[in-house]
Amino acid sequence: MTDNKIPYKIYLEEQEMPKAWYNLRADMINKPAPLLNPETMQPMTAEELGQVFCDELVAQELDETNPYIEIPEEIRDFYKMYRPSPLVRAYCLEEKLQTPAKIYYKFEGNNTSGSHKLNSAIAQAYYAKKQGLKGVTTETGAGQWGTALSMACSYFGLDCKVFMVKVSYEQKPFRREVMRTYGAYVTPSPSMETEVGKKILMEHPGTTGSLGCAISEAVETAGKLDGYRYVLGSVLNQVLLHQTIIGLETKAALDKYNIKPDMIIGCAGGGSNLGGLIAPFAGEKIRGEADYQLIAVEPESCPSLTRGKYAYDYCDTGKVCPLSKMYTLGSGFIPASSHAGGLRYHGMSSVVSQLYADGLMEARTVKQTEVFKAAQEFARVEGILPAPESSHAIKVAIDEAMKCKETGEEKTIVFGLTGTGYFDLYAYQKFNDGVMEDFCPSDEDIAASLAKLPVIE
Ligand SMILES: *Cc1c(COP(=O)(O)O)cnc(C)c1O
Repeated sequence: MTDNKIPYKIYLEEQEMPKAWYNLRADMINKPAPLLNPETMQPMTAEELGQVFCDELVAQELDETNPYIEIPEEIRDFYKMYRPSPLVRAYCLEEKLQTPAKIYYKFEGNNTSGSHKLNSAIAQAYYAKKQGLKGVTTETGAGQWGTALSMACSYFGLDCKVFMVKVSYEQKPFRREVMRTYGAYVTPSPSMETEVGKKILMEHPGTTGSLGCAISEAVETAGKLDGYRYVLGSVLNQVLLHQTIIGLETKAALDKYNIKPDMIIGCAGGGSNLGGLIAPFAGEKIRGEADYQLIAVEPESCPSLTRGKYAYDYCDTGKVCPLSKMYTLGSGFIPASSHAGGLRYHGMSSVVSQLYADGLMEARTVKQTEVFKAAQEFARVEGILPAPESSHAIKVAIDEAMKCKETGEEKTIVFGLTGTGYFDLYAYQKFNDGVMEDFCPSDEDIAASLAKLPVIE
């Protein structure tokens, strides 16, 4: 069954691991728009950003000229614990589908936090430590980011305060225990520990929380404590930059066997894994060296690229964070409580947004029940229990492979398998019991939310 020239898993040697991240913005012809200060509506300066993020990360956030940014040795040493991650040829899935397509996936779930988020968490923790900070604060919804950051902080001896959306805190108690094992201090949000939290609890006593509210609590806490900064696990340029390790390794592994992909597929929440996976390929496309079909997959319940508007918007519900020009559904948009928690963000990274606006990338939406069907099909033959978020990419990869079966085309498909689903068994239970539902926001709901976008002169 296996093509004896290409192994089931393509591993790179440790010394073949990339030594620099790739800054796609340096090659982009139309640069993503700058972040705006919510008070002045002017581009955020390095000084203003420095009050929120640590200095090296501010430099990375603003850098649109250097194509390569060296990965410090301390970070590479940590990466070596779980990287290079394998690029797997999905021989068993191909066989099951009886498709002439060749399918590969880059698996990022081989670490305790169970997702790609550790790639940026370790970088952010490293720069915070280097600057002599005491600790960091953050929010977590589904829990993957909080877990990754807890691991990174314990490694560098930093304090880590996580505000976890209350409903997740209660539904995923074991995620919380992993974080506590790594020394993080986890608070269900909204809480009585912040002014924002108290206000929300007074206004909505029974609330189960939201990501927007948890962000506001984490930002407030970082501002009140000396030597603390707020960190974010997606959306920002710096996060996309760190995640390019995924795409660079993928490209190196493909090059090793002279494989040229036709399409590259990734799920998109805030856009960090997708942006990181496609970056080196998008760079070649922009420079006119090669052509690839690049596909973002988002949930039908939160369709920022496919049904949102490309405009400046707030990154959080509390409107305290800078504004970003992105495809957005509006900062007040509350998506239905789907089971892919990591894909429930109202906006999208500005890099991914600009690529999409320039026609360099496509986007598709998929229904939740179809995603779980694809997840089940994948798990049964490839063995890995995928995260619901990652399964969005699986669904489109399978769709594309089935199209090849009709046309007889032998396309090479690569997709990002961002994580494992061991903490999502409540969702799998609903699917297995046949009681999972699909949610599609109405045009009126989206229009009403977009009507509240800020007006920028
Ligand atoms: C957070 C998360 C995502 C989505 O985040 P992006 O920033 O869009 O990559 C996807 N998959 C998993 C497993 C996640 O934890």
